[in-house]
Amino acid sequence: MQHQCRDCSYRGKRLVQGGCPACGSANIGRLKGVDKEAKPTSNLSTVVMLALWVALAYLLFDKFF
Ligand SMILES: [Zn+2]
Repeated sequence: MQHQCRDCSYRGKRLVQGGCPACGSANIGRLKGVDKEAKPTSNLSTVVMLALWVALAYLLFDKFF
């Protein structure tokens, strides 16, 4: 989830104590639409994890049989 500072237009995932790390303002808003973009990324990492497990299983299978 990304945030955007309404005082200095800082944009990023990091917040310092609930405020903007650039200007210290607490006037932070959520960026809409970013959450939707984040889902394909998590799906991709799931696919990568799955591929790694399949590769591992294949290597083990190849070794023992
Ligand atoms: Zn700011």
